[in-house]
Amino acid sequence: MTAEGRGAPAGVSRVVVVGAGVVGLSCAWSLQRLGVEVEVVDRGHVGSGSSWGNAGFVSPSLTAPLPEPSILRYGLRAVVDPRSPVALPIPPTARTLTFLARMVGHCTSARWERAMRVYRALNEQIFEAFDEQRAGGVQASTIETDLLVAFRHPSEAGGVLAELQGVAATGQEVAVEILTGDQARAVEPHLSAEISTAVVVRGQRYITPSAYVSALAHQVRIRGGRITEETAVTGVQRRSDRVVVTGTDRELEADAVVLAAGSWLSPLARPHGVRVPVQAGRGYSFTVACHDPLTVPVYLPSPRVAIAPDGDRARLAGIMEFADADAPPVRGRIPSMVRAVRPLLAGMDLDDRADEWVGPRPLTSDGIPLVGATRTPGVFVAGGHGMWGVTLGPLTGRLLAGVLVTGRAAPELRPLNPLR
Ligand SMILES: Cc1cc2nc3c(=O)[nH]c(=O)nc-3n(C[C@H](O)[C@H](O)[C@H](O)COP(=O)(O)OP(=O)(O)OC[C@H]3O[C@@H](n4cnc5c(N)ncnc54)[C@H](O)[C@@H]3O)c2cc1C
Repeated sequence: MTAEGRGAPAGVSRVVVVGAGVVGLSCAWSLQRLGVEVEVVDRGHVGSGSSWGNAGFVSPSLTAPLPEPSILRYGLRAVVDPRSPVALPIPPTARTLTFLARMVGHCTSARWERAMRVYRALNEQIFEAFDEQRAGGVQASTIETDLLVAFRHPSEAGGVLAELQGVAATGQEVAVEILTGDQARAVEPHLSAEISTAVVVRGQRYITPSAYVSALAHQVRIRGGRITEETAVTGVQRRSDRVVVTGTDRELEADAVVLAAGSWLSPLARPHGVRVPVQAGRGYSFTVACHDPLTVPVYLPSPRVAIAPDGDRARLAGIMEFADADAPPVRGRIPSMVRAVRPLLAGMDLDDRADEWVGPRPLTSDGIPLVGATRTPGVFVAGGHGMWGVTLGPLTGRLLAGVLVTGRAAPELRPLNPLR
């Protein structure tokens, strides 16, 4: 079998996409551009997975594989320190432990560098894919910005600078500048006097994710696509030259199906030969009132919290909780985020919280997404984007739509082969 799997059946004219997150909707949108009729099916509603309350950073300079050597340190802290931004349910399930053991195997410098080369080929096309959606009528702003990565102690900056150097070592353009605490506060006055150092990452973007997925869904509908909500797909089967999607209340037929079910991907994709498991890395977010609008997005690596402007409020997103995607939110998580960031921020009312949210990042153990054909002709996968599904969603849609229509994967998609 080729790296592209079995490819698309000839003459794809109707496709069902399972999952109305940023990835599934981007696939639907790109397929429509190529003249394909689409129906998107979601067990909940548009954006009901991870695509709604995330941080909304569109930041190629930071878009890198999750498994890297420092994860091991965080993993150990998670076991011993309940305040850690990385959390494991107690007791962890066997499935989670197996996933983590596999991820640990990828936490070496050599594997990170290899995976980073895969990301590099994607990262250079990220803005172009967003611009294409914008030019094609998706009416949600992607705002050009610098990002501020801020530290309490200068010694904390080393890890982030090393990672940015690793990104730059692949040949990707990365423009950074180191600021003192005062210089950082001049850029973003919501940083407290505790911040001593910051790294400015130039030339990034951000979106408001809820507005973005809503605009994408609107465009899919305007172009004649159907979005069927509150319908859980239970399986996908090949029957002669069609693919049949079985749902709770009806069967859907199509020439091809794209499984873009986020953290719920594995049970749907495994019967089609996809053995790389997808595990939920749940994060939490909320918005708070600010005295003045935030000027730029900020990342605080020590508590692992990202902060993005959200109208006249700020959205704070963080925590990596390896748990079941459908488990109820853990009550103490948001208060622990608040305790961790309170000393580092100023001019934000962290007690005036709204929009509290939990969502599952779809993680793969090797940190590389799963995008392409499966061993079942006509069944495709688009998922496992982990920390970076918003950033990579529009590009994934564009590249996968190309595979469905031509039967061939672009070279940069080959390492994302779901059958690896
Ligand atoms: C706290 C936090 C912060 C983040 N910050 C960023 C960021 O700044 N930048 C960035 O690029 N990424 C970020 N991410 C990651 C990003 O949110 C995800 O990678 C991305 O949203 C994944 O999109 P998706 O479409 O693959 O999955 P999802 O958005 O989870 O969508 C999957 C959809 O499939 C549906 N579904 C599942 N099973 C079925 C079924 N059986 N039948 C029908 N429908 C089904 C679900 O209901 C869901 O709507 C963050 C994530 C979190 C949690």
